[in-house]
Amino acid sequence: MTLLNPWVYEIWRFVTVTFLALLAGLLTGNMILSALIASLGYITWHLINLVRLEKWLRSGGASVPPIGKGVWGELYYDIYRMRQRNRKSKRRLADVIGRFRESTAALPDAAVVLRATGEIEWFNSAAAHYLGLTSPNDIGQRLINLLRHPAFSHYLAQGDYSSTLELPSPADETVILEVNIIPYGGKNQNLLIARDITRIKRLESMRKDFVANVSHELRTPLTVLSGTLETISDADNSETLATWRRSLNYMQQHTMRMQNIVDDLLMISKLEADDHQQDHHPVSLSALLSTVYDEALVLSDSQHEIRLDITPSLWLLGDEKELHSAFSNLVANAIRYSPAGGVVVIKCQQQDDGGTLFCVKDGGIGIAPHHIQRLTERFYRIDTGRSRDSGGTGLGLAIVKHVLDRHDARMEISSKVEKGSEFCCYFPASRRCSAVY
Ligand code: ADP
Repeated sequence: MTLLNPWVYEIWRFVTVTFLALLAGLLTGNMILSALIASLGYITWHLINLVRLEKWLRSGGASVPPIGKGVWGELYYDIYRMRQRNRKSKRRLADVIGRFRESTAALPDAAVVLRATGEIEWFNSAAAHYLGLTSPNDIGQRLINLLRHPAFSHYLAQGDYSSTLELPSPADETVILEVNIIPYGGKNQNLLIARDITRIKRLESMRKDFVANVSHELRTPLTVLSGTLETISDADNSETLATWRRSLNYMQQHTMRMQNIVDDLLMISKLEADDHQQDHHPVSLSALLSTVYDEALVLSDSQHEIRLDITPSLWLLGDEKELHSAFSNLVANAIRYSPAGGVVVIKCQQQDDGGTLFCVKDGGIGIAPHHIQRLTERFYRIDTGRSRDSGGTGLGLAIVKHVLDRHDARMEISSKVEKGSEFCCYFPASRRCSAVY
């Protein structure tokens, strides 16, 4: 069906009304009155349509448009279609904005949208966490009034955002944030991004300390070696053989120390390098601990009483070399920090929850409580002289901690000064396995 052009329809209506008015004028003999009535009728009809249009628009225009004929019908329909289109594109836009907000809200970094005048327009949940912002109270507030840090005020004031700024988090002083302001939109609007760099900072300072410690550790043996070599080369023929021997022994001792440090450093770097590639197999704890026990006897040189108490047929899923290194480090410490005649007990037992507990107990010099937390740090030693004299590198417990981490295990240390210490490693049930794997 082809629809009639609304204007043709309208012209027909106008012509009909005019014709009827003429006819009525001719019949009644009062042309002016019938023309007036016809015009009024026509205008009233348009007015009624106008009122309906206005009412429909005022009601939001969401419902179906009023039914109209001719131009009015077309007008209603056109407006209705236009509104539908607008509504659809608005919905699409709202969807896009919603998705954008959801993804920004899920960002681990804090994001704050700032107006040109510095007020907060929007922020994500990470910003609430790291910058201590609260919604909706802080929306519309100037960020500079909420983030009161001189360095941040200066950063904002200078207006040069090409570099980043490091700040302690206002919500938690121990968290270090890297703040970056990104101008966007060409209307002086800014996006502030803050990310947590505490771990990176800590690693940086650990690396610096580590390099300093390694240099410090190797300097003494090297000085001794070069000094001794100088002495030997300066010695005249009357030098006795005994003096030479003493020097050579001394050199040997220090070479050994350097060798131990390098070996332990290599072990740590190996443990760190393949952090994620664990090639674990069932390890027989009976076999492993009997080796550790034999080595302990050699180290003690019959100066200590060493006991081994182990549940038979215990197997752990792990790396044999790493476990050997951890266990023998703990046993060696127990011997080295116990006076002659002391008792060292090595225990390994299955727990009620299926876990495995390995403990080394000694009756040695013990450790004051404030040191315990830091013992697994590299090169942390309570008595450096004593550690060195007994062949320690200060890296043993750092290795133990690494190995335990890689075996989902944890270590507990209990100790009393002058009474002795106990180092226990707990391996969860998930690490237990049988010989046939
Ligand atoms: P080190 O090579 O110096 O022994 P470790 O990392 O093995 O290095 O141990 C760190 C420090 O912890 C030691 O220097 C020592 O002071 C202390 N320590 C470790 N085990 C014991 C123990 N069984 N008794 C007393 N002190 C200990």
